[in-house]
Amino acid sequence: MIKFLDLQKVTESHGADIREAVERVIRSGWYLQGTENAQFEANYARYIGTRHAIGVANGLDALVWIFRAYLEMGVLQPGDEVIVPANTYIASILAITENGLVPVLVEPDLQTYQIDDTRIEAAITPRTRAILIVHLYGQCAYTDRIGQLCRKYGLKLVEDNAQAHGCLYRGRRTGSLGDAAGHSFYPGKNLGALGDAGGVTTDDDELAATVRALANYGSTQKYVFRYTGRNSRLDEIEAAILDVKLRHLDEDNARRKAIAAHYLTHITNPKVVLPQVPAPDAHVFHIFPVRCAERDALQQYLTANGVQTLIHYPIPPHKQECYRAWNDRSLPITELIHDEELSLPISQVMSDEEVRYVVTTINAF
Ligand SMILES: *Cc1c(COP(=O)(O)O)cnc(C)c1O
Repeated sequence: MIKFLDLQKVTESHGADIREAVERVIRSGWYLQGTENAQFEANYARYIGTRHAIGVANGLDALVWIFRAYLEMGVLQPGDEVIVPANTYIASILAITENGLVPVLVEPDLQTYQIDDTRIEAAITPRTRAILIVHLYGQCAYTDRIGQLCRKYGLKLVEDNAQAHGCLYRGRRTGSLGDAAGHSFYPGKNLGALGDAGGVTTDDDELAATVRALANYGSTQKYVFRYTGRNSRLDEIEAAILDVKLRHLDEDNARRKAIAAHYLTHITNPKVVLPQVPAPDAHVFHIFPVRCAERDALQQYLTANGVQTLIHYPIPPHKQECYRAWNDRSLPITELIHDEELSLPISQVMSDEEVRYVVTTINAF
């Protein structure tokens, strides 16, 4: 069977270096807030191209802390509106509502699956204070028009870069395009830890200091608490592992792109809609999403023939029980994507033979 993602193989592809890093942390006797965090943060900030990177417990917290910090700084007030794509993983929305802010859902573009920048201006009201873009599936969601709207209306631009580590927009990395970005290092992400991990990148010194304090009980100094924060720190072991994997991120992403290029040229089944890629570096293919009107039948066929697939995501946020007040809303493009999307196996450890088998199987459907 071809797994959707063979995480054991992913880990073993850098296994010796990971074991050495873990050993080093074990021997050091220092397990939190130490040199491993400092080194990974410095290397990740340099990689993304920001002044600061702050390691936190997971990707959801990274986004939660950015909005919470803006509240503590007086940049945002409770009840302010944040524009966000309607088709995203629930974490993007949770980070807004958990902070008492109001998400304003905007439909995506059916060609790119990213927030439709022609629909944003109509969603702006006097309460709008920020836009949260999500580089969904590993593709850059930023556009010049979004940057212009932020300047025109004085909005903060926050990026959800959980799926797009290493993605470029005209030579600049996603995660450095807005005012702040949240990153997830969940094991299955392009840069993944061996457990939960996340990070915030920003050029804003005050925001960086506030996020760092919030994620460490709200403390700016040992036993002095400026905010009612939480324990949301990145483990030293995870930081050490991430630092190893960061060194291989570009080569790992290059392999994903090569697999995607093969899929794009060789999948010819007319029932299957392939993703459109605007610029070659603007996609790191965390997910390779196809669409098919007979999605469930295609998935069953692939499963029966030994190809594991997933759906990202089966139920959009506005149809979830936790957001029942929105359940009656109609967002047809978002709903269409959720009805038709299927994610094919893609990762740096897939062999050419496996990639060819996926293509042959899909074309035979
Ligand atoms: C994975 C993910 C997150 C959350 O990351 P965790 O580390 O799992 O908390 C947030 N946003 C998006 C788009 C994601 O894919």
